[in-house]
Amino acid sequence: MRILLEGSDARYTLEQLAQTLFGSQEIEIQCRVRQTHKRISAVCVLIQEDRQSRACAWLQNSNDKYECQHTHRLVVARALYRAALQMLDSPPQWGMLSGVRPAKLIRAQLEAGHTPEQAQRWLEKTYDVQSDKAALCVTAAKFAFSVHQDLVPRDVLLYLHIPFCPSRCSYCSFVSMSAGDYAQYGEAYIQALMREIFAFETLVKTRGLRIRSVYIGGGTPAILDADKLYDLCARIHVLAPAAEFTVEAGRPDVISAQKLAALRRAGVERVCVNPQTLKNQTLSVIGRKHTSADFYQAFALARQAGFQAINVDLIAGLPGETEEDFYNTIDGVTALAPENITVHTLAVKRSSFLNAEAYQPAPASRLHAMLDYAEKTIMQKGYAPYYLYRQKNMGGSFENIGFAKPGEECLYNICMMEEIGDVIALGAGASTKLTRHGIRRRVNPKYPREYIAGIDSVLADFDWIEQYFYEE
Ligand code: SF4
Repeated sequence: MRILLEGSDARYTLEQLAQTLFGSQEIEIQCRVRQTHKRISAVCVLIQEDRQSRACAWLQNSNDKYECQHTHRLVVARALYRAALQMLDSPPQWGMLSGVRPAKLIRAQLEAGHTPEQAQRWLEKTYDVQSDKAALCVTAAKFAFSVHQDLVPRDVLLYLHIPFCPSRCSYCSFVSMSAGDYAQYGEAYIQALMREIFAFETLVKTRGLRIRSVYIGGGTPAILDADKLYDLCARIHVLAPAAEFTVEAGRPDVISAQKLAALRRAGVERVCVNPQTLKNQTLSVIGRKHTSADFYQAFALARQAGFQAINVDLIAGLPGETEEDFYNTIDGVTALAPENITVHTLAVKRSSFLNAEAYQPAPASRLHAMLDYAEKTIMQKGYAPYYLYRQKNMGGSFENIGFAKPGEECLYNICMMEEIGDVIALGAGASTKLTRHGIRRRVNPKYPREYIAGIDSVLADFDWIEQYFYEE
């Protein structure tokens, strides 16, 4: 991507939007902006191989400094978007919105006193978002709005990271070490994690924190044996008996009746069993060492174990999948009636095997058909979208949506995705995010080996978190 920009410092706005609209395609953007105290205008020219398009946009300026910056970026984005529309096959579903958290914009509108209908119209008009996407966004934002009202200072959410998996999925960009690494580092990793949990327990007691939600994710937490799962979860449960408690058990190939029973005994109420697809050929292509029959069995075991809620993760646009394949997966999963279904759109992330193979995502029209079917089918069965987000390098620039049956929404997912509430995260690569007075982060060493070796400085860093709660 080449950007020639005159009269503006909104390069980031152009980069983000161009990447959202054109992905990795080569494109040159020429943008000229004029700003007076009365109005801001922009002219944008796009050049791609032998094609060229041109568009302009303008808005009235404001005396307010913040408002003026916002308007400036909006004008620049609008000029680029209008020029892009002349090159794209069809208008993007999310219009000129390039951010990863669209529901946050709606929540801000609701908090400013606008009705959901007004907020939806504003999103459609300001960013050219299509009405069905805007409606999804409003529904999700209403959940976030009510959670935000309910949280008080000293409410925290706890995340624990288990960065090991039985094998690596071809689309994965997370730091997830193999089963061999788990055999080598697993024991030392859990010991280091227990030391960090001890520091967290001390913080909770000294600062009088209330844990609202616990989420153990990965990686694949169910790679731990039943005793370790029990020890870990029971220790946390004692600290937060009333908190929502989710374990992303994850891959069906490591889920067993003993492990699920250990989780239930330790007080875990919610579990994720994730097939991503029910097509065996795809499961093999993406490097997962399980079949759809393994998923059905793991799901049945989770039901028998008596969890309050089971979540199932799916991905639209996996390599080689047709619309029919994905519809079959949606039909198979909805027939099981899990309390939560999360539908992702495949994102080809930089550090994934797929990216190394220069994999090209499915065409936007195919992804649109898949997501449309998923959204309609799932919502007809009584679920509502309760959080959503978008990612970079996502085919067709669509979205990931968490659907829940009424009353089964996962508090942790809402808070994480909407950046509300304070999340204290433990384990390798875990990112603590404190959200009052602006967002502040602490990120632990990325790899298990570094985390184990650096655990003393990780613990020393707890002073910083403690200080934050003194300020409350
Ligand atoms: S199970 Fe999840 S974390 Fe593990 S390799 Fe696959 S996508 Fe990555």
